[in-house]
Amino acid sequence: MELTVIGKYGPYGKEKNGCASCYLVKNDEDLLVMDMGSGTLSRLMGFVDIKKVKDIFISHLHYDHTSDLLPFRYLLEDLNHKVNIYTHKEDSAWYGILFNHPNFNIINIDENTEITLGSMTLNFLEMKHTVTDYAVIIKGEKTLCYTGDTLYNDNIPLCFEECSTVLADCSKPEGFKGPHMNINDAKALANKYKKNIIATHLSVDYDPTEALKEQENITVAEEMKTYIL
Ligand SMILES: [Zn+2]
Repeated sequence: MELTVIGKYGPYGKEKNGCASCYLVKNDEDLLVMDMGSGTLSRLMGFVDIKKVKDIFISHLHYDHTSDLLPFRYLLEDLNHKVNIYTHKEDSAWYGILFNHPNFNIINIDENTEITLGSMTLNFLEMKHTVTDYAVIIKGEKTLCYTGDTLYNDNIPLCFEECSTVLADCSKPEGFKGPHMNINDAKALANKYKKNIIATHLSVDYDPTEALKEQENITVAEEMKTYIL
């Protein structure tokens, strides 16, 4: 199983060459795109033939995880290509604006949903953010969880129990007050579960690499890098 970090910043990209959230998972020949934040579509096109992308998971509907779905619709029209979008049902104007398009096949997910994508199965766990956010648990040759955006919550232990690698929103500095885990959460989880954490969703003005460099089991996500899990 491979994980490529297309974009890792939030709530907006970094000057010149940093993009908001988007990740690409490959297991055998099966692909899953996870979130599609600002600036990520053109990068994604550099990693994969878009005609081979059939499945997209959207963790939650904040703009930094969804905004490139809008230009993506133009590309899908030009390619005459349709994709499945796995996301929770939300009664909001943004949900309608984003997803009401004939080239999107929307499949609503919750904690009871199981999706099979060829060699991968997907399950979902609700997280804790300012809007509804789901983590996805991917089981293929390896096991990977992507948390989307979240504070620590009662489902986080399940992410670690089920998966050998967790791509986690845990890169904010100590004392950060927003709805994300910080580096102290990351250290505590790494020490408790001894699983691999790829820390992502970085702020543009804070790089956690130095603070986490002595910590075992944590890697800070690098954009345009493919991790062999
Ligand atoms: Zn968010």
